[in-house]
Amino acid sequence: MTAPTLILPDRSHAIASDLRAMIGAEKVKDDYSTLTAYAVDASIYRMTPKAVVLVESEEDIAATVAYAVSRGIPLTPRAAGTNLTGSAIGSGIILDVSRMNRILDLNREERWARVQPGIVLAELNKRLARDGLLFGPDPSSGDMCKLGGMLANNSSGPHTLRYGAVKDNVAALRVCLQSGEWLDAKSYGLNDPQCTQLLETHTPLHDLKLLLQGNAQLIAQKRPTVSKNSCGYNLFGLADGLARGCFDLPKLFVGSEGTLGLFSEATITLIEKPRATLTALIHFHRLEDVGDAVPKLLELSPSALEVMDANTLNLIGRTKHGIPADAAATLLIELDADDAGIDLRAQAERMTEICRRYRLASDPVMAFDPEQRDQLWKARKALYPTLYRFDPRKKPINFVDDVVVPAERISELIRYLEEFFAGQRVPVAIFGHIGNGNAHIIPLLDVNDQNDFQKMVQGYHEIHQTVLGRFGGSICGEHGDGRVRAEYVKTMFGPELYGLFVRVKQSFDPSGVLNPGIKISDRPFTDHIDYERLSKSCATCAKCNAVCPVYDVFQSEDMSSRGWFEIIMDKNYSYLNSKRVVEACLNCKSCRTACPAGVDVSQLILDRRAEYPNKMAGVIFRFHAQTARFEQFLKFLARYQSIWDRPLMRRLLDRLTKPFMRGIAETARLSPQLVLPRLATRQLRDRYPDLIPQAGRAARSSVAYFHGCAANYFDDGVGDAVIAVLRKHGVKPDLPPQRCSGTPIETYGHRALAKEGARVNLASMAGYEKVVTGCASCTLMLKDYPTLFAGEPEQAAAQALAKRVTHISEFVSQSPVKPAMASQQSTKCKVAYHSSCHLRAAGVTKEPRAILASLPGVEYVEMPDADRCAGGAGTYLVKDFETSQRIVERKRQAVEQSGAEVVATSCPACMIQLRTGLRGTAEVKHVAQLLQEAYEAADRQTK
Ligand SMILES: Cc1cc2nc3c(=O)[nH]c(=O)nc-3n(C[C@H](O)[C@H](O)[C@H](O)COP(=O)(O)OP(=O)(O)OC[C@H]3O[C@@H](n4cnc5c(N)ncnc54)[C@H](O)[C@@H]3O)c2cc1C
Ligand code: SF4
Ligand code: SF4
Repeated sequence: MTAPTLILPDRSHAIASDLRAMIGAEKVKDDYSTLTAYAVDASIYRMTPKAVVLVESEEDIAATVAYAVSRGIPLTPRAAGTNLTGSAIGSGIILDVSRMNRILDLNREERWARVQPGIVLAELNKRLARDGLLFGPDPSSGDMCKLGGMLANNSSGPHTLRYGAVKDNVAALRVCLQSGEWLDAKSYGLNDPQCTQLLETHTPLHDLKLLLQGNAQLIAQKRPTVSKNSCGYNLFGLADGLARGCFDLPKLFVGSEGTLGLFSEATITLIEKPRATLTALIHFHRLEDVGDAVPKLLELSPSALEVMDANTLNLIGRTKHGIPADAAATLLIELDADDAGIDLRAQAERMTEICRRYRLASDPVMAFDPEQRDQLWKARKALYPTLYRFDPRKKPINFVDDVVVPAERISELIRYLEEFFAGQRVPVAIFGHIGNGNAHIIPLLDVNDQNDFQKMVQGYHEIHQTVLGRFGGSICGEHGDGRVRAEYVKTMFGPELYGLFVRVKQSFDPSGVLNPGIKISDRPFTDHIDYERLSKSCATCAKCNAVCPVYDVFQSEDMSSRGWFEIIMDKNYSYLNSKRVVEACLNCKSCRTACPAGVDVSQLILDRRAEYPNKMAGVIFRFHAQTARFEQFLKFLARYQSIWDRPLMRRLLDRLTKPFMRGIAETARLSPQLVLPRLATRQLRDRYPDLIPQAGRAARSSVAYFHGCAANYFDDGVGDAVIAVLRKHGVKPDLPPQRCSGTPIETYGHRALAKEGARVNLASMAGYEKVVTGCASCTLMLKDYPTLFAGEPEQAAAQALAKRVTHISEFVSQSPVKPAMASQQSTKCKVAYHSSCHLRAAGVTKEPRAILASLPGVEYVEMPDADRCAGGAGTYLVKDFETSQRIVERKRQAVEQSGAEVVATSCPACMIQLRTGLRGTAEVKHVAQLLQEAYEAADRQTK
């Protein structure tokens, strides 16, 4: 079907200003940055919208729909934008449901929940886990995708084998139809008076029922015979309902990809969280054996059965993931124990027994522990974006990514595909849900090369045709049709059934505004391919959005890591048209830690800021670089802190400093709520003169303590604790001369100044075997000096220093000296760990936790969201206090939930931020301080 011609006003501002007047200015955006960020999803396509609406209520949805219909403007609903088919981008209005993200109702006994469409699957399951429940469908994108998109795509995942796809786990939906009416889409008994009334009042439903009844035979004939299908509209599920005497409306809307109506909430059915789980990796020597083994392994009733072919294993790196060189395919199998009667150890033995019949490349690897199980899943879950690392030009392209064949013929399919792509000389990764016969096929191509482009078009037609003709399969198991498969829906079902789809679409969306170009469209799949982006390094998978604290509070793509990559790499980018967003990043580096494709968005943003250094910050940092004068100034402030740090004076200071703060950022202020640390009248270096090496003399110790600014200037005991702990481990450290490591300086775009300080530090730390740090940001910055000096003469020295930088928690963990600790105490203090982002980015995550867990007076509790940014981020809590407080709120709730009395961390900004955010409900300490207390308690006991 060709969608009716839609009217597009020439000026996007007309649309946005109309919408602003209707639903509120703060919910409607149409600036360059927003439109650029929303022009992509995780597919190969790009379409720039005219306006974006961030809806917050059903009223907002209904008003936007009514406006779009009245003006004939394309309307595309969107959740996380992680679909792989181009279904969350459009040329008109994008209606983003991310801010509607609450659980409205939860019934533990009956195992259901009413949930809004903007909730992230992982967040939903975290909440449900508290009640021992789980939402079964589990796309690998579960950390970032949202319920609205899962519903509209009928998503599924590895555990669909046992728990079904979304369509099997939805009881009801609230749907806004294009008529503006709200429909409670549930399963109605055909004799139910409610159903009769519904059919009388909703013509499209009445027409649909007649269409189903009049074409029952055709629908039965064309029903896909494979175990999964998300292609076309699910008239099959509706026909099944009629046969059972009910009008099962969710079956129509789940999988409709925003083309029939918009969801404001869903009632989902839940399952009990398994009591225990076994995950195993089996490396097969011969691909043929996989096909033989699958039916036998299915007898164990696995909850997941996944395959990765030899090419995939090569592409992700066999050595890195411990995969034998001669493995022709690897199976990942998972078994869940729902009740006490299931013995997973016995199941593991049965599995080993089955595997003995085949030539394996190594013994099966089995894991029961959640952390080890996560490790086994890690490579599989991030497979697609990881493939972006493989080649700078050839990128993984999703265009035949989701076929389904009978499960027992999966090795035949893999063999066929391997031969097909070998013939094309195209590297390809083939992996997927083998238990359902659902294969993800991701060839690596340079679509900007005419040859590769032709190979893509040829592969698209030939593979889909083979899946349909030779295998009797489906072209779409779970990812949806979107733009990429719309062209082939007619071929899959034949013109007659396709004609019924068209009638359904026309009946529910006569104006054609609901997500045009998706599912029911005859446009070629090559329309709107984003050739420029497909040569860049970002897979647009949105994994970074899931950890970006700014996205967490704004829920808007222009305020997110993935969006920022799009904006700053866009050909029309300029600092001036995007200052708002470029300055919003905290430089927390969470995105860098999460990105499977190896992109460092925070670094790219710093590069952009370096093009426009902040003038006011420059004045401050240049003063800061005059160490002696700056230190005198701080001592002066310290002397009078008891006067100026009173509530009334702080309010006055906030007002007086406003004009000056505005030079840093529009949002900057010295909020009176900010709990400032006590400044030291005698700074750390004054307190330990014996540790300061004399100028021009050789180092006296093999260990230097790089205390950084905070530990020197603040009188908070952190620097003293690090020195005391080192001494307990038999080390008397040197405190060589040092300048700011550079993190805050670079954050404001002053790279040259950051380098100037870094050069001093490189020279000063050169003679030491180890450079111990206490501050998370200093740790990361010193380890990152090689990037700061990339291609410059200092790079070698920077690399040498990076290897020697050791955080105090690493130092203690590696130390051969084990100082005495106090004997176990009966009353223990509950301590949680807040893992500072920069320490996490520096790779230090386990050591602080292990130390805390080993302390005698401590009951260590792992708090929820321990690995999320707290919003302090150097000076961010001054630069944008309001946003930083919105970020820390989540941390406050996590601490409260954990019941911790003390939160340990190792970053001065995090400490200030936590003290401000927790408002005294828990104490905040550095890990070294808790260690010091434990050692001192032992000393007291001995005495
Ligand atoms: C790395 C990676 C791995 C993936 N793995 C899987 C997998 O294992 N299984 C799988 O099924 N998919 C997978 N996907 C695809 C994708 O993540 C899923 O389809 C996901 O459910 C989409 O959710 P979303 O929130 O991103 O939706 P979006 O991309 O925002 O939208 C998807 C569709 O839903 C519509 N929509 C969104 N909200 C609403 C609403 N409120 N009302 C009506 N329509 C709406 C949109 O218009 C669009 O058509 C993967 C993607 C990536 C990047
Ligand atoms: S930066 Fe990395 S994590 Fe973020 S969208 Fe791009 S590839 Fe995915
Ligand atoms: S550094 Fe932090 S705030 Fe900035 S883009 Fe990355 S995750 Fe988001």
